[in-house]
Amino acid sequence: MNYKIAAIAGDGIGPEIVAEARKVLDKAGEKFGFTLDYTDVLMGGASIDVHGVPLTDEAIEICKKSDAVLMGSIGGNTSTSPWYKLEPSKRPEAGLLALRKALNLFANLRPAVLYEQLKGACPLRDEIIGDGFDMMIMRELTGGLYFGERKTVEENGVKKAYDSLTYDENEIRRIAKRGFDIAMKRNKKVTSVDKANVLDSSRLWRQVVEEVAKDYPEVTYEHMLVDNCAMQLVRDPKQFDVILTENMFGDILSDEASMVTGSIGMLASASLNETKFGLYEPSHGSAPDIAGQDIANPIATILSAAMLLRFSLDQDKAADAIEAAVKKVLEDGYRTIDIMSEGKTQVGTKKMGDLIAERIS
Ligand code: NAD
Repeated sequence: MNYKIAAIAGDGIGPEIVAEARKVLDKAGEKFGFTLDYTDVLMGGASIDVHGVPLTDEAIEICKKSDAVLMGSIGGNTSTSPWYKLEPSKRPEAGLLALRKALNLFANLRPAVLYEQLKGACPLRDEIIGDGFDMMIMRELTGGLYFGERKTVEENGVKKAYDSLTYDENEIRRIAKRGFDIAMKRNKKVTSVDKANVLDSSRLWRQVVEEVAKDYPEVTYEHMLVDNCAMQLVRDPKQFDVILTENMFGDILSDEASMVTGSIGMLASASLNETKFGLYEPSHGSAPDIAGQDIANPIATILSAAMLLRFSLDQDKAADAIEAAVKKVLEDGYRTIDIMSEGKTQVGTKKMGDLIAERIS
């Protein structure tokens, strides 16, 4: 089996971490009998420097013709980089927004996993953490408040701003189905998060989620109000498997969930469309402050590559092997500087990639 992967290294630490993810993917391919052909694609600052724009039509076409997109991160130092002197539509981030739109990536997945070996990084107390937690935040990415009509007007000398939050039932249904499908690959529990005591959009959300749930009798599901969910994430994060929610609630809850893991360099993410196609990238940014020093943690990107195998290529065994190799490396005491603690062995970006690749079996 051969797959086509569009590889967007991006800016800052992007090229360093994508190189390690490719190394690990290739090793997984060797072990599990598939090959990956990469096409390098420029996006963000790297594309501005060459083409004057953060994303070209050719770049979009290459991504569309691929089985999946693996990405590092884009953007530079927002105070000092000349990219941020350009008008907003020409800046690095505009490339990513345009690509998400062109590829119709409506479902964003962010796992928040606390590894037993990194418990020290979690800001929560030991009795709350137990032996760690593993949840997936599933956020709707192309609807809701961030894409609704908005305007600012002045009435009788007083400024007034409007943002509208709309969802239609089809938008809710497709993300809900995705959420239940993902739960079937995990621990078969969905917590659907809304504000149905106040918002009409949430009441429709709840109704459609209940309809979709009927097709997944093996999955247990519950509804939770967003304010309660924000509390439960720090009170008892172990209760969650898949958290399914709309755009703005997901934006806030996914950052909260990632902070309770305490390790930004460990957090993967995926954005999917209605087919198997997806874009996979770490949750963190391009970390220009540490770029080119071989100290960035490549694990978030490597775990994103594992998600690529699982969700776009159906290579679940290879994905499991990568995740197990990451755990093994942590158990063996290797750490990049961002997750370093006393008594452990500090390694650089490349070495971490080598150590994980070696442990794939
Ligand atoms: P950041 O995530 O890049 O960095 C925040 C801090 O975390 C920095 O101290 C950095 O050194 C550290 N860090 C991040 N990733 C790390 C890793 N893998 N290993 C070790 N340390 C790591 O956030 P920022 O500084 O706010 O943003 C920098 C640039 O990234 C900006 O241009 C921003 O717009 C962009 N950004 C891009 C994306 C994306 O491409 N999806 C997401 C977020 C931010």
